[in-house]
Amino acid sequence: MTGKLAGFGTTIFAEMSALAVETGAINLGQGFPDTDGPREVLDAAIDAINAGVNQYPPLPGMPVLRAAIAEHQSRFYGIELDPDTEIAVTAGATEALAGALLGMLDAGDEVVVFEPIYDSYRACIALAGARAVPVLLAPDADGNYVFDPDELRAAVTDRTKLILLNTPHNPTGKVFTRDELDVIADVVLDRGLVAVTDEVYEHLPFDGRTHIPLSTLPGMAERTLTISSGGKTFHTTGWKIGWMSGPRELVTAARTAKQFLSFVNGAPFQPAIAVGLRLPDSYFEQLRANLEAARDRLVQGLVAAGFTTYVPEASYFATVDIRSVDPRGDGRTFCRELPHACGVVAVPNEVFYARPEFGRHMVRFAYCKQLSVIDAAAEALAAGFGGR
Ligand code: PMP
Ligand code: GLN
Repeated sequence: MTGKLAGFGTTIFAEMSALAVETGAINLGQGFPDTDGPREVLDAAIDAINAGVNQYPPLPGMPVLRAAIAEHQSRFYGIELDPDTEIAVTAGATEALAGALLGMLDAGDEVVVFEPIYDSYRACIALAGARAVPVLLAPDADGNYVFDPDELRAAVTDRTKLILLNTPHNPTGKVFTRDELDVIADVVLDRGLVAVTDEVYEHLPFDGRTHIPLSTLPGMAERTLTISSGGKTFHTTGWKIGWMSGPRELVTAARTAKQFLSFVNGAPFQPAIAVGLRLPDSYFEQLRANLEAARDRLVQGLVAAGFTTYVPEASYFATVDIRSVDPRGDGRTFCRELPHACGVVAVPNEVFYARPEFGRHMVRFAYCKQLSVIDAAAEALAAGFGGR
């Protein structure tokens, strides 16, 4: 293939999910839950279809959903937004990210990203004719993923237009701390940049941690476009309802690109996600507790199977260093063989790196699954590798 996306091929998620279907293996690759979300959210979509909410919604999104997003941002973070000008609904966070990058970047611009990088970022930056400049997140001696503030500062050049931040982070499960966000905010303010943040795992930090939106730091509300999605929070990844919020100029720029990508999205799902966003605190607490239990169970299984395992602070995913069980240390080969060897599918982290050498030996397992499924996978991994 030629053109701006030469070399990008098919996404690893599609490749690995197809392999899971082909081999009948347990799919801990692509991050999607294997149980339905709250009944009232599902029923609200069914009711909307039956009530005739089946035609194009307004370009910025249905008013009921924009109002619910504004309420959600105020309730959880104290962020006040004008739903008419400072919020837009998109086809998942994926399209919000695409709209932001295509709408804000010019050819030759640079975007500072923390690597490993969620796969669509680099593709959208390439589509915009811009360049991704990676800053490494690597495990420290305690197994916590950290970055070097000097590397971040050095990554910014005269061509840098924005910093793209994902917290909580996929695939590492890192939650950026207040101190780390302060460093990032300082760089943004100091160098006159814009920040785009991907917060799709906002409700899934564990062990008492809190998610802090970058836009809540002093001076950052004016400079940050915040992106999220209903997929992870309501177990509705297939609905593809996401959103962006922030200053009018940034939302307008991203929405201008978005209107030529999908125009509008999923009319009956919009009022349903609005119902979800207004669920009581107990829903969000239970969601977090369930995922935390699943995290613990998978981490236990990975450790028992002999993997060097980095305990995720949030999200759907645990990362491991495979070299303790497979001295070849080649995650791609490992993941292609794993369904045949053990009946389990995982994702090689190499695909998330601009500099693949940093991620070659790392593999990601998803735990957004029923405990029985996690146990079956853990048993298979232990039988395949345990005691090596
Ligand atoms: N950002 C990150 C970090 C993700 O893990 C995902 C995958 N769910 C997305 C964006 C895409 O979200 P959506 O399905 O809402 O497009
Ligand atoms: N975000 C999900 C993951 O990281 C998958 C999304 C996709 O298939 N593009 O696994």
